[in-house]
Amino acid sequence: MDPETKEIAIIGAGLAGLCLALALGQQNIACTVYESRSASLNIGGAIMLSPNSLRILDDLEVYECIREKGFNFDYVEYRDVEANTIEKHEFGSYEKHGYKALRIYRSIVIDAFLTKLAKRNIPVVYGMKFKCIVTEAEDGVIWESADGSQHSASMLVGADGIHSTVRDYLYSGLTPAFSGIAIIGAKLPAMQLKLTPGFHLPVTLMSKRGAFIIAPQDVHCTEVMIGKQKRFEDPGIAGWDAVEADKQSMVDFLQKEAQGFPEIIHNAVSIIPTENIAIWPFYTVPRLERWSSPQYRIIIVGDAAHAIPPPAGQGTNQAYEDVYMFALLLAQAKKADIRKALNFWQSYRQGRIGAIMALTNQINLRRMPKEEGKEDEQLEDFNLDWLYSVDLKEVVDDWICT
Ligand SMILES: Cc1cc2nc3c(=O)[nH]c(=O)nc-3n(C[C@H](O)[C@H](O)[C@H](O)COP(=O)(O)OP(=O)(O)OC[C@H]3O[C@@H](n4cnc5c(N)ncnc54)[C@H](O)[C@@H]3O)c2cc1C
Repeated sequence: MDPETKEIAIIGAGLAGLCLALALGQQNIACTVYESRSASLNIGGAIMLSPNSLRILDDLEVYECIREKGFNFDYVEYRDVEANTIEKHEFGSYEKHGYKALRIYRSIVIDAFLTKLAKRNIPVVYGMKFKCIVTEAEDGVIWESADGSQHSASMLVGADGIHSTVRDYLYSGLTPAFSGIAIIGAKLPAMQLKLTPGFHLPVTLMSKRGAFIIAPQDVHCTEVMIGKQKRFEDPGIAGWDAVEADKQSMVDFLQKEAQGFPEIIHNAVSIIPTENIAIWPFYTVPRLERWSSPQYRIIIVGDAAHAIPPPAGQGTNQAYEDVYMFALLLAQAKKADIRKALNFWQSYRQGRIGAIMALTNQINLRRMPKEEGKEDEQLEDFNLDWLYSVDLKEVVDDWICT
């Protein structure tokens, strides 16, 4: 067994785990990240980062390293089938929130985290798979990795994603629920769209048969992602492999659905190499009663605690809010107050996650084909100041003062 240590063990070197390590490092709290993969995951498309999390990345000195490496923008435009602009969905604003939104490849953000962590001598151990908790006591945790070795830590944080093994310790056998919707998306050269000058991206083109979304992937918008959501019967976790393997059906779906949409969509779907197409079923983790173990030594964050479907583009953003606020509270709360601090953290964070789930439902109403008799469903305005303007330092300071 490792010698006794006061370090926090972080399970998972995804976007949440790496950000947590930096946030703890900023507070001079020692930690080590353990990742089951043999190296960092260098694949995956782009994600949207909004001001609420860019403020966090700025404070962690990561924003300056990534800002110029992604596509900066203020809003997603909604257009009808004639390509007339109907509304704009704000994703960021320098004037209002201090930051434009940033669409950036996941791997660039991961590399930026790893560079900062290396500079601060915060270890990331690859090829170390968490297996189970051996014991949890008042003063720490002993856990076991898949190779059979045991390790001790003052706390263990599960940042191990939607299919979290750490979560099993809190909720044995809980499995994420399929929402009934998946998005089929393809990455394409932007030139293929034959955009007219001034045509705004990202864009959502809406019809009664659902919506196509087009979003830039990189800083100069040389590559775009085009996608359309589809309702699915749940094939079960294993069943998705067969759906994913049938690439031609996915290409056929996008090409068939393009009928009735403007030229830009026809151009987009004209050539879709099968190796560039993928499907992402939307799974959710139900609202959990607790994100901490009874002794408050085992915590879950990010997708492990609250995976939310991607339409609002907030999965990663909310993971950053989780871990940054967690680190601030841990640094400030006196030992005796840690339980209270973690209760406050969870209830504050769940309030925001609940509001984002409601926003996700609103976006789905726009994106999905209209159901019979629901044509006139009321759509709410997108006023998202509550989402983007949050200052978690202030939130924590206010709580500490009360
Ligand atoms: C199609 C799609 C588009 C999205 N777009 C956006 C977007 O635009 N904006 C946004 O904010 N979010 C977006 N998201 C959501 C975002 O990807 C997730 O919310 C985010 O990646 C969650 O990060 P995480 O670190 O919690 O989990 P993950 O990224 O899943 O990382 C978990 C890590 O833990 C490791 N791990 C797992 N088990 C173990 C174990 N037993 N031991 C050790 N390590 C382990 C994994 O290998 C992995 O590296 C999107 C999601 C999808 C599916």
